This record gives sequence, C-alpha cells and structure tokens, in this order.
Amino acid sequence: MEAQTNGVMPKPIKRVVQPPSYPTTSLEFLQSIKTHTNEALLSATKIKIIVVGAGLGGLATSCALARRGHDVTCFEQAERLGEVGAGIQMPPNSARLLLKWGLGEYLDERVVEPTCITFRRWQNGAELSRTALVPDHRQKFGAPYYVVHRAHFHDSLHQLALKLGAKVKIASRVIEYDPETPSITLANGEVHYADLIVAADGINSIARETVTGARTDSRNTGFAAYRATIDVEKIKADPEIAWIVEEAKINLWVGDGRHVMTYPIASGESFNLVLSHPLSGTAKKQSPSEVLEEMRLNFEGWDSRLIKLMSLIHTTMKWPLCNLPSISTYVHSASKMIILGDGAHAMLPYMSQGAAMAVEDGAALAEALHLASSPEDIPEALRIWNAVRWQRGCQMQEASSLNGILWHFKDGPEQEARDAAMRLGSFGKDMPNGDGIPGDTVKLNGDPNQWNDRETSQWCFGYDTEEAVRRYHSLQTLAKL
Ligand SMILES: Cc1cc2nc3c(=O)[nH]c(=O)nc-3n(C[C@H](O)[C@H](O)[C@H](O)COP(=O)(O)OP(=O)(O)OC[C@H]3O[C@@H](n4cnc5c(N)ncnc54)[C@H](O)[C@@H]3O)c2cc1C
Repeated sequence: MEAQTNGVMPKPIKRVVQPPSYPTTSLEFLQSIKTHTNEALLSATKIKIIVVGAGLGGLATSCALARRGHDVTCFEQAERLGEVGAGIQMPPNSARLLLKWGLGEYLDERVVEPTCITFRRWQNGAELSRTALVPDHRQKFGAPYYVVHRAHFHDSLHQLALKLGAKVKIASRVIEYDPETPSITLANGEVHYADLIVAADGINSIARETVTGARTDSRNTGFAAYRATIDVEKIKADPEIAWIVEEAKINLWVGDGRHVMTYPIASGESFNLVLSHPLSGTAKKQSPSEVLEEMRLNFEGWDSRLIKLMSLIHTTMKWPLCNLPSISTYVHSASKMIILGDGAHAMLPYMSQGAAMAVEDGAALAEALHLASSPEDIPEALRIWNAVRWQRGCQMQEASSLNGILWHFKDGPEQEARDAAMRLGSFGKDMPNGDGIPGDTVKLNGDPNQWNDRETSQWCFGYDTEEAVRRYHSLQTLAKL
C-alpha cells in the first residue's frame, strides 16, 4: 500500500549515516539505498579550473568537471598525447562513472569484458580461485569489469574531454605553482590564472610538495614488472596455448615473489601480459635482449604453457613499481589547489585500481563542487572532497600492498594455507584438478582472493564516490543545525 500523502509528495528523508569504519556487509544494504542526487547536470557555481597533466587522471577529471559546466583547461608537458604500456583493467567502480559521462561512445568497440579472473598455481597452472565477472559484476555493482588498451582508454578520454568543452594544451610544462592566487607558470614563461588548480601530474609530481608543504619522494617497492603484448593470432596457432584466448578471461599465476597477469585487449586482437618480479639490484642500463633474457630467467620452471607464451614475446618494457606513503592532505591550506591521481596516492598495481582511483578523484571533485551554492562554499567543498578521497586513497594503497604479500608466498605452509583457503572460497569441496587439499580439512577464515572476499569486493567495486561525497555533505549540514 502507498503511504498516505494527501496529494503532497513526501519530503526526502536526509539520512545521517556515516560509512561504517568497521567490517560489515550491512554496507551493501546502505549503499543500495541512495541519497537524493542533485539532478541538475550543470553546477550552480561555475568556476575556472586548471588541470595539470593529461594522463588518465587529468583527462578523466577534465571530463568530470567540464560535464558540470566548469571552464576547464588541461596543460600537458608532453609534445604528443598518449599512454605508455599496454593493457589496463577498468573495474566497475570507475567504469560506472566513465560510462555515465558518455565514454562508451568512444570506448565500447575497443574494450573486452572478461568472463572471470582465475588464480593459478605458478608451477602447473592448476586453478586456485575463480571470480566470476560476467554477469556478476554488472548485477552486483551496476557496471561491467572491462580490460582495455591504455592508448584506447586515453584517446577515448581525450575525445570525450574535448566534446564536453574542456581545452587540452600540449607542450605546456608547468614549472611553478602559486597556490594562493592561484596560478601556474609554464616553461615558456606564460602565467595562467584560475579559481582552482588541480594537479594530476603523476607519481613524480612537483605539485605535491606545494600542496602538502613537505617533500614526499616515491618509494621503490622492491618489485618491477615486464609489460608486453602478443598478437592473438600467434597464440591461436599453437594448440598448447590456444585455450587461453578461446574465452576472454583474466589469468593470474602466483608464485614465490612473482606473479603473471594476462588478459586480451584491443577488442580481443591483442594479448596483454604483466610479469611482476623482484627488482634486481643492477643500475646498469640493459639492452632489450638482456631484459628479455632476464624475464625468461625470472620465470624459469613456471607453468610450461606460460613459458610458451613468453617465447612469443619479442620485446618488453621493464617497469620499476613505485608507490607513495600516505601524504598528509590532498588540498593546499589556501583551498585553491589540490592534487589527485598517482601524484597523491600512487600504489602498487596489484588491485588494478590506480587509474580507477584517479577517475573516482575527478568524479568526487565534480560532485563536491556541484554541492557548492556559491564561490564561498568552495573551501568547504574541497574539505569534504579531501576527507572522502584521502581515506579511500590510503585504503586502496593498503589493499594493493596486501596482494603483494598474499600472492607471493614461496612454497610452504603459508602458500598451502592460502591455496586451500582460495580453493575453499571459490569451489567449496569441489576442488578442480584433483590436486588440492580436501575442502573439509580447512575452515574459511577469510578469502585471500580480494576479488572474491565479499566485504573487500563490495568496498572496492560497489563503492560510489559521488554518493560518498553527498553522504558526507549531508552529515556536515545536519551537524551544523
Ligand atoms: C604495471 C602497471 C599496471 C597497472 N594496471 C592498472 C590497472 O589495471 N587498472 C588501474 O586502474 N590502474 C593500473 N595501474 C595504475 C595506473 O596506470 C596509474 O594509476 C594511472 O595511470 C595514473 O594516472 P595519473 O594521471 O594520475 O598519472 P600519470 O599517468 O603519470 O599522468 C601524469 C601526467 O602529467 C604530466 N605531467 C607531469 N608533470 C607535469 C608538469 N610539470 N607539467 C605538465 N604536465 C605534467 C605527465 O606528462 C603525464 O601525462 C597500473 C600501473 C602499472 C605500473
């Protein structure tokens, strides 16, 4: 029965609930009941915004802000726009936002939607754990889990940013920030002014020190990754490895200090590999053939099918994996300059969430500014943005580092316990391959596959950063009453 309204629409109830800080699956329920969105697309307070850096983070932020009607100019130091590296995962927490903004028009034909993620034992590829992505992620989290070529992702964001009215200027290196005015100075001497400066200038950001007032250098994590692609037709031609491209899947082999993540990209025409390993001490510049040789040595003795795949790699990039400690704030004290993306919270890529966090940062910023009813409200909007994004950035850094422990056990009791728990979490007693520990000999105290862990996956993929901003804002408003 409908509630009695006497012809008058009931007023929306403002919910005064903070996201729980303790582990609870009730968060799922809470997230399923949304606060009221501010339906108007264009923000009441239109401001002039400079974005520094046209990487995935800077372009996504430019889209989010331009979409709300702000006057956005993005300055990029490179002479040409582009992205280094091959594949990237676009999990539902970022895909939901990007598709809402209209990225699908440029991206839909270029993505792959893998059916599942399969964890495998390093030595023989035996299945340890499986996370269904299709249709589960669309159903549970309201958006697909995509994998895509970085160049396609970047180009799509660039096209969307321009369509939404942002200006993107290349060959424009920022050499100095004035966070009080605020303004930027370019290497060619030009000075540009705005109401707000958003630095999305990557892990080696020069803006970070200006924002926090303290120097924070990126840290070597002790890991590096070889990144490579293989033409899918070459894989199909070999019956021993053709199975890996028969169905679009993410496969992840885990072993002592190392792992290999693979998936198809470029509408399934190309096959992407990321091979993480301990960073060797050599400071000497290696030739391409030395890097290839080193890659093969690193994975000697691994699953013969993986070795066969690696034999099809003729060129690879070696990429040291660096991260940042959590920095004190993402907003300068004068409330006219902020930092986001890798410059604020660079993390190990083991949750596949670095770029997704930058997309969320941009979305949350646009939402926080959208709640400002006048320019005087902007410092408060940035305060809310900082509170929401700082916590999320720090937590995702933490979750990423945890995978670096969970995936890299050498064979022994910890690895056996992990494999048993993974198998139990995914398959119950019906272990695949028949080589596992019987399911009824272990109790599931938690799932070491963070994609499967119910709480982690809800927190990671079900998270709605715009909703988190609105929730925080309504809480603050009510606290003042
Ligand atoms: C091996 C690997 C795998 C990964 N996999 C995933 C994944 O699957 N999913 C995911 O979400 N993330 C992944 N990531 C993380 C992701 O790549 C990064 O988090 C993301 O690209 C960061 O984007 P950004 O825009 O913040 O920084 P960047 O990409 O570093 O962009 C910074 C931009 O700023 C420009 N710039 C810098 N200084 C200046 C200046 N002074 N003036 C003007 N311009 C300037 C730079 O030229 C650059 O274009 C992975 C990372 C690695 C290393």
